[in-house]
Amino acid sequence: MGFFTDTTVCIGCKACEVACKEWNDVPDTIGQLTGESYDNTSALGANTWRHVAFIEQRKPVKVQEAGLEGLEEPSGGDEDGFRWLMSSDVCKHCTEAPCLDVCPTGAIFRTEFGTVVVQEDVCNGCGYCIPACPFGVLDRRQGDGRVWKCTLCYDRLKGHMEPACAQACPTDSIQFGPLDELREKANGRLEMVHEAGVTDARLYGADEGGYGMGAFFLLLDDPEVYGLPPDPEVVTRKTKSLWGAAAAAAGALALGVAAAFAGGAR
Ligand code: SF4
Ligand code: SF4
Ligand code: SF4
Repeated sequence: MGFFTDTTVCIGCKACEVACKEWNDVPDTIGQLTGESYDNTSALGANTWRHVAFIEQRKPVKVQEAGLEGLEEPSGGDEDGFRWLMSSDVCKHCTEAPCLDVCPTGAIFRTEFGTVVVQEDVCNGCGYCIPACPFGVLDRRQGDGRVWKCTLCYDRLKGHMEPACAQACPTDSIQFGPLDELREKANGRLEMVHEAGVTDARLYGADEGGYGMGAFFLLLDDPEVYGLPPDPEVVTRKTKSLWGAAAAAAGALALGVAAAFAGGAR
């Protein structure tokens, strides 16, 4: 289970951020002036499990549909126009989750829904997982010391309910469901947007390779414009191959020592 976020229909209302805070009782840290357009949370963190980015660009709007019947589309702007890109970011609930691989206490686990959750009563705040996540999701909460992030509303899923953020989104920019169904929807939507002339649109994280991102996006520009890494690396894969190389070197060394002893004994 996971998310497909269609940023082409996000209106930046932040209902997702608010619903997440409300449902999960995440401390309120909103209210700072960041100077980043209408973005007042800046990034994902221990107190921001959903983050709506606002990017201002000197580009024509082209197509940004509200997706609601009866609601007028925003004016198209002119060729020298101005547009906002808005996108609601979240933990990717990776299939190959490096945060989970490096956690020494087992606090981070994979649920029966395929999602990645930090157990608050097991996390000891060591912070090993923080640099392992290439998406900057993990963060220690000040005054608490433990790491907190999106649980993909584990409690709601167990109660057969939709995650709070997806339920609150008025335009269905955030869609929740089985990943294969969401991938099919995302490909269909990409085709539709391309046919409408928005050739810059692209999917991010929708293929099953790499991390196997359980939250993927339809974007209107390069991922780095939205603060997403263009080519995230599974760092623990490297660690595994480093351990393999170290084991092979240790084996070769042991063989060499044994051979030297055998030679000396003759
Ligand atoms: S996005 Fe980061 S925190 Fe979320 S599952 Fe992947 S590695 Fe872990
Ligand atoms: S799935 Fe739940 S915990 Fe995760 S961002 Fe949405 S509301 Fe917050
Ligand atoms: S609730 Fe939906 S439309 Fe509103 S900011 Fe979040 S993703 Fe965008």
